[in-house]
Amino acid sequence: MSLPIYLIGARGCGKTTIGQVLARTLGYTFCDTDHYLQQTAECSVAEIVAREGWESFRARETEALRAVTAPATVIATGGGMVLAEVNRHFMRERGHVIWLSAPAEALANRLQQQPETAQRPTLTGQPIAEEMDEVLRLRAPLYQQAAHYRVDAMQPPEQVAEEIIRSLALARAS
Ligand code: ADP
Ligand code: MG
Repeated sequence: MSLPIYLIGARGCGKTTIGQVLARTLGYTFCDTDHYLQQTAECSVAEIVAREGWESFRARETEALRAVTAPATVIATGGGMVLAEVNRHFMRERGHVIWLSAPAEALANRLQQQPETAQRPTLTGQPIAEEMDEVLRLRAPLYQQAAHYRVDAMQPPEQVAEEIIRSLALARAS
């Protein structure tokens, strides 16, 4: 059975972009937990947060993670998915967990280049570069803890996908 592949990492690290390339290459289904929960809630992440608060959003995120988990699926997770121990544990038990790692400055640059509509509310209202620095400092240990493999997300998407596939081949061989 082909275990699901979970992509974790901060906003902008390429979970959606690389997930789509990886799924296409492997012939897997692609799922995005943010996308899934926006569809089930019938509103945007920003609206869920504004209406129900972050805590409710996090609970919906845990539900979404469980709902999209299936064999032969690449799952792009929300940047904060690793905050809950229960999510970290679930992903490690159920599949392969890959951390797409990139420096805060690069992530902030990528996010600032996205159209306004694709942008998420910042957690703190700080400038995005500062917030990203802070978020990574707090979350890096959690990404590290949850991941089976850490991959350099600064390479072109096809190369990142290839590195992930190589890591998984190693996992199967061992
Ligand atoms: P995430 O889903 O992790 O938030 P996205 O896949 O939406 O990240 O990517 C955020 C932005 O960065 C997008 O504009 C995307 O085109 C760009 N991007 C993603 N991965 C790479 C990469 N490996 N190299 C260059 N740009 C990238
Ligand atoms: Mg995404």
